[in-house]
Amino acid sequence: MSKPTVLVAEDESALVTLLRYNLEREGYRVIEARDGEEALLVAAEEKPDLVLLDWMLPQLSGIEVCRRLRGRQETRNVPIIMLTARGEESDRIRGLDTGADDYLTKPFSMTELLARLRAVLRRIRPSLAEDVVQVGDIEMDRAAHRVRRAGVEVHLGPTEYRLLDHLIQHPGRVFSREQLLDAVWGSDVYVEARTVDVHVGRLRKALNIEGVADPIRTVRSAGYSLDESIVSEPRRANAS
Ligand code: CA
Repeated sequence: MSKPTVLVAEDESALVTLLRYNLEREGYRVIEARDGEEALLVAAEEKPDLVLLDWMLPQLSGIEVCRRLRGRQETRNVPIIMLTARGEESDRIRGLDTGADDYLTKPFSMTELLARLRAVLRRIRPSLAEDVVQVGDIEMDRAAHRVRRAGVEVHLGPTEYRLLDHLIQHPGRVFSREQLLDAVWGSDVYVEARTVDVHVGRLRKALNIEGVADPIRTVRSAGYSLDESIVSEPRRANAS
């Protein structure tokens, strides 16, 4: 449900099968593209959390796909790991400013791939690589689908849960209502911006501890952010 989505852009069927098997076993959601054009389309539609990108792809080379992903607003920051064949390509690719986050030379071991993937995810979006995320006194356990504030369980509706899940991935960053609509409701759903305010209000109420500052900051005319510096004393589980 909140597992990271990996786009595998690779034209070798056997490798795709192997990657899918291993990534799914590690809990990733896997989507595929078999050529460069398809990779761009799928990336735009599905907004993956990471792209495994083959250097030699039909239609459009991996390096061109990488450039175009970097050039588009919605995929500008997606982590990209390039898969290159041994030989001159891997030497050339290192000399090029492709904007990839990492490279792996074929053949590579799955253990190495998974380790690199986790490292890239951790570096770029720390919260995606972990099941349990802690920001300030808020703890989100994605595996158990549980949220706690100062040690006490907080009950959230599905929308509030997704809202917090998004904010907690980028503590301190301010999101406009439109950005939150896109991230939480999806860009193809028509929802009024005011709806965001309503759900932020509910999330606030659920997280509220009397006498402790609100962890969700309203930034006038800009949007909302999760304040990582708000920490309260741990409460007893039976506190009301
Ligand atoms: Ca290839």
